[in-house]
Amino acid sequence: MSNCAIVGINWGDEGKGRMVDLVTSDYQVVVRYQGGGNAGHTVINEYGKFALHLLPSGIFRKDTINILGNGVALDPENLMKEVEEVRAKGVAITPDNLKISDRASLLLPWHRELDGLEEARLADKKYGSTKQGIAPFYSDKYQKKTILAGELFYPEELMEHLKDLMEWKNLTLEKVYGAKPCTMDDLKAWLDEYCEKIKPFVADTGEILKDAVKNGKNVLFEAQLGALRDLDYGIYPYTTSSNTLASFAPVGSGLPGAKIDKVIGVVKAYSTCVGEGPFVCEMFGEEAEKLRAEGQEYGAKTGRPRRVGPVDIVATRYGVECQGATEIALTKLDVLSYMEKIPVCTKYVINGKETDRFPFPAAQNLAKPVIEYMDGWNCDISKARTWDDLPDAAKKYVSYIEKEIGCFIKYVSVGPERESIIIR
Ligand code: GDP
Repeated sequence: MSNCAIVGINWGDEGKGRMVDLVTSDYQVVVRYQGGGNAGHTVINEYGKFALHLLPSGIFRKDTINILGNGVALDPENLMKEVEEVRAKGVAITPDNLKISDRASLLLPWHRELDGLEEARLADKKYGSTKQGIAPFYSDKYQKKTILAGELFYPEELMEHLKDLMEWKNLTLEKVYGAKPCTMDDLKAWLDEYCEKIKPFVADTGEILKDAVKNGKNVLFEAQLGALRDLDYGIYPYTTSSNTLASFAPVGSGLPGAKIDKVIGVVKAYSTCVGEGPFVCEMFGEEAEKLRAEGQEYGAKTGRPRRVGPVDIVATRYGVECQGATEIALTKLDVLSYMEKIPVCTKYVINGKETDRFPFPAAQNLAKPVIEYMDGWNCDISKARTWDDLPDAAKKYVSYIEKEIGCFIKYVSVGPERESIIIR
């Protein structure tokens, strides 16, 4: 048996979904271990094009068991909507191929509302939340003020627990934000409408994973977002509210004692960033518009235009270190084919001093990028399937990034489709 984590090296949206979809044929179990429905993995395959938010990307492979681990923000309402959407395109989703950890905490009806209320209070100081309730959810989880999916099987205790939580949360809703309080009727409706539907999927997934490992099955851990959004190691406070790093995968999955054999770090051939916060290598004006349009850089969840920039060596090297990546998948190389000269952010300058170290978050606002240029290749590379199909300038670009970030680029992706990949 071997296990592998597929993780983002940068700010998210690197193309993790397409990489999970590519390699899942070698894995019998795929686990999402953190985050919620606040981002999207885009997968294109024989069933069509999907923006997955919470479902693991192994859901399209027959005989793959997909697990939502204890580390995720389990939103029953959004999960069931997503399940219905994916089923409508002919994909079978049953309690045999989708399992929800009984230890996954549930995102409660007030979390999404609180996200919106807090962003409105912050006004122009907002963090750029996707308003899916993720930050209020994780803060409540760590305050031990939410419920576990397994509690749905203990209705009497559940109602008592929910009542206590509701009374506590109504203090915030009413007294802090002046909003409408939640009622037990609201909660009962939520339980009937959504939680009843997730119950058949809830299981002791820790046991399922232990059995899988014992029987020599391969487990794939799937992350959301990227290293620079990790709560502890990212661009705090513009991070997400969970740990996106591979080292968290065993903890968030239900195999806390597992060692990860392989970490595939996904890097985009240029940079993108959604929402607020420091983004040192950011491009503006026409140059940015063109790259955004070529790369179709609009958020999978919100449709928001993503901020764009050249590949950022400083941030990417840091992301590789944080993730402990053992190999890299470089995606969207085809998008750069229109450029005569390709910009690369090689260093930062802070208060007149050059650095190649990723700075402390507060110092990033002072950092200016050092941009150098490499030759472009100016031809369509989307049909390349081997390393030697690539023009020399493209090979040089990939090899340069590989050398600078100190990790083997095993996969070069030249299109969104499953087969548009070079494996070295
Ligand atoms: P994720 O959240 O890391 O899975 O990334 P997203 O799904 O937000 O963004 C990746 C987007 O790029 C999706 O629309 C993919 O279909 C697309 N994509 C992935 N790899 C490639 C590639 O090599 N070339 C092109 N042109 N598009 C790609």
